[in-house]
Amino acid sequence: MALEVVSPRVRGFICTNAHPAGCAASVAEQVRRARADAVAAAKGGSALIVGASTGYGLASWITAAFAWRMKTLGVFLERPPGDKRTATAGYYNAAAFLRLARESGLSAAAVNGDAFSNAVRNGVVDRLKQEKSPLDLFIYSLASPVRVHPDDGRTIRSALKPVGHSYTTRTIDLDRGGLSEVTLDPASDQEVADTVAVMGGDDLNRWVETLLAAGLLAKGARVVAYSYIGPMITWPIYRTGTIGLAKADLEKTVRSLDGRLAAAVGGRAWTSVNAAVVTQASAAIPGVPLYLSIIAPVLAEKQLLERPIDQILRLFRSYVGPGREPALDREKRIRMDDREMRDDVQAAVGERWRSVTGETLGKLADLPGFQREFRRLFGFGVAGVDESQPVETDVQLG
Ligand code: NAD
Repeated sequence: MALEVVSPRVRGFICTNAHPAGCAASVAEQVRRARADAVAAAKGGSALIVGASTGYGLASWITAAFAWRMKTLGVFLERPPGDKRTATAGYYNAAAFLRLARESGLSAAAVNGDAFSNAVRNGVVDRLKQEKSPLDLFIYSLASPVRVHPDDGRTIRSALKPVGHSYTTRTIDLDRGGLSEVTLDPASDQEVADTVAVMGGDDLNRWVETLLAAGLLAKGARVVAYSYIGPMITWPIYRTGTIGLAKADLEKTVRSLDGRLAAAVGGRAWTSVNAAVVTQASAAIPGVPLYLSIIAPVLAEKQLLERPIDQILRLFRSYVGPGREPALDREKRIRMDDREMRDDVQAAVGERWRSVTGETLGKLADLPGFQREFRRLFGFGVAGVDESQPVETDVQLG
């Protein structure tokens, strides 16, 4: 037992603790949305989600289980509760997910470990083999700043930098709440290579090849990896920067896996280009909190704003659920960013982006809204949770 009052400890784009009841309430809310969207004809099947504890991966885990009634296995890397610290939000999210799945009679399990490691990948494969549970769906939603390479144990760190030239952008100073300017130096060749090694396609390729070799991808299996493109105003730090080059590598890997899966099991592999949303990963990218603070009110005004759960429910419903065939762009990607990228949305965002100053920030951007969303990621400010009350922080995963 570890009852305590938990208040947010936020520094910039990092929050070092999490509220277990807030995380549970936020998962329960997403589960309600998924249940309301449940597909009457869903036939079950089996899904593996890597990066399942927060953001788009959590939304995918919830959608596969509660809307599509699939048997699910979620993989993630989260810190459990300790003597002096709460667990991470993703840990509490996963614990809440597993409890709700159990209560609903759904078969769901989790592996908390490093998905880049041979031990975790092989452990998952052994488990699926024992359960004779070939996968119908494999969602790859991993976002990490670091990878311990499974071949030689090297620790590789990604960089969030422009490539070829330096880049100056306005960004929100999350501690002071105003606008500030940052100049980012161009990445070195090594930093580009390292970022591709962490967030590119190599790890996904290892997962799919290992699953194929073990006969664990069912006939017609679908593999979906998530990516981002965004508008040109963010390209220097995203699409043409180090992270964008890693995403281009991931997308290339997916295109080659598509042919590989078609030949091996009559399956498919797609990239889904998702829209920008507030997550732990996106909040860390310079300039992105400002972009998110500007686009949210524009989308809300046009009734186009989607949280990850809305978007992933739409992704499954329209595109990747069993029997669905997605519309693809020229690069063979699913475009879930269609609302974000609409011309009228981007025209309004571009105008605000160019003209926003410290004085007009309150009018042209919704910084308090961004901060609320950010805190919600850690279970703070979630409706129905009284944060003045002590709460059990020593939660078990399953
Ligand atoms: P997130 O930070 O919310 O989630 C990352 C997940 O990866 C967590 O479950 C975490 O536990 C897991 N993870 C990290 N390192 C791990 C490791 N070594 N082993 C196992 N699990 C590990 O991130 P997100 O924003 O939801 O991003 C998920 C995917 O969606 C990424 O590919 C990202 O590029 C993509 N995407 C994000 C956005 C956005 O705006 N957030 C937009 C489009 C696409």
